[in-house]
Amino acid sequence: MGLRPHLPNGAGLAPAEIEDNFADLMPPLTATQAKSYASQCLYCYDAPCIKACPTRIDIPTFIHQIRSGNLKGSAQTILSANIMGGTCGRACPTEVLCEQACVLNACGEEPVKIGLLQRHAVEKRIAAGGDHPFVRAAPSGKRLAVVGAGPAGLSFAHRAAMLGHEVTVWEARPKPGGLNEFGLAAYKMANDFAQKEVEFLLGIGGIKIEYGKSLGRDTSLAALRRKFDAVFLGLGTTAVNRLVLPGSELKGVDDALAFIETLRQTRDKSKIKIARNVVVIGGGNTAIDAAVQAKRLGAENVTLVYRRGADAMSATEWEQDLARTNDVVLKLWAMPIRFEGQGAVAAAVFEKTALVDGKLAGTGVTFTIPADLVLKAIGQALAPLEGLRIESGKIWVDGNFQTSLPGIFAGGDCIASGEDLTVQAVEDGKRAALAADAYLRSA
Ligand code: SF4
Repeated sequence: MGLRPHLPNGAGLAPAEIEDNFADLMPPLTATQAKSYASQCLYCYDAPCIKACPTRIDIPTFIHQIRSGNLKGSAQTILSANIMGGTCGRACPTEVLCEQACVLNACGEEPVKIGLLQRHAVEKRIAAGGDHPFVRAAPSGKRLAVVGAGPAGLSFAHRAAMLGHEVTVWEARPKPGGLNEFGLAAYKMANDFAQKEVEFLLGIGGIKIEYGKSLGRDTSLAALRRKFDAVFLGLGTTAVNRLVLPGSELKGVDDALAFIETLRQTRDKSKIKIARNVVVIGGGNTAIDAAVQAKRLGAENVTLVYRRGADAMSATEWEQDLARTNDVVLKLWAMPIRFEGQGAVAAAVFEKTALVDGKLAGTGVTFTIPADLVLKAIGQALAPLEGLRIESGKIWVDGNFQTSLPGIFAGGDCIASGEDLTVQAVEDGKRAALAADAYLRSA
């Protein structure tokens, strides 16, 4: 996982080194490895790993199916709970979810490699092709609109199509996938897997995607409500960044997600010019993905700055370790106060922070880090949406994922409880589709 030596002074890495740095971080299991890992599972009754999975995949059953050679059945078990089980097998923080809950930890052993096994089963199923694994119910005669072809929107669309509805997805970008396609580190999603997974998901039929169409510019909530029987908003991270400081307008003060998107959409990453000194601001997985990728592109110094301690970071310990082993310097307890430079950023100035009476406060002590690229990976808030109740910058929903407007549902990163996890977005979309179906059938 470590970096190979690179050319001095951040002058850049050789193309072959860059290709190597962006190869699959966790290569897939062989069939022999999969059977061997599957045999470690105790097939617990009332298994804690299931409860720790946001989509409640029946983990002992799918692992048992791998062990007994029923790979197709194993994928079916996973996909019936989580249609994006392939991406989740690659990108889920399993170390704080299912694998953390695995009973083997309590025996002082390594947990079962649930994520890798899940990935193994689903990827083999997708690669095998053939009929889609789910059959649609009889046509309901209802038409549903989805805004956003990210994990939440596509999960909703798939479940709604399965329930017999016709679905039209409005997607602003020219490609589907949302965070899976544009917002995760390239080394987690190697081999164009996000697109293969969407293609597989659409195999159910009954889902049409309108690309290059966005809410606000090409349609409105009111128009969608008139034309469709129900609407789902899976707007993801479409948001305005709240970090506006003196110097934010300088060239080189950028959004971390935009940086990750550029990386994901550039096939030959050696063509990307990376700055020498990179500063990333934030404590989540997006911050880590941006910092590690900057380093793997050849930046000489990458510093990740977070305003609280390591325990408060939403990036897991595993992600934090990944940053450290890639020579990213983690600076904790500091917040940005301004960016300096003539036209382009040259430095970021921070103030040290501390807890005062339980609240985060600046200490007045400042320090400066040279920076020719600053990537902001923090605090995003949704732009106001016509007539919808917004709380803390997110769409408010009730226990059935219904917004303050009847017939309009929402899920994923855009809702109040949203975390930037694909698995949670998939679960939101699935549950919202079931709720929308109940709403339509009771109308
Ligand atoms: Fe298998 Fe661990 Fe889950 Fe038990 S907790 S069923 S051992 S994966």
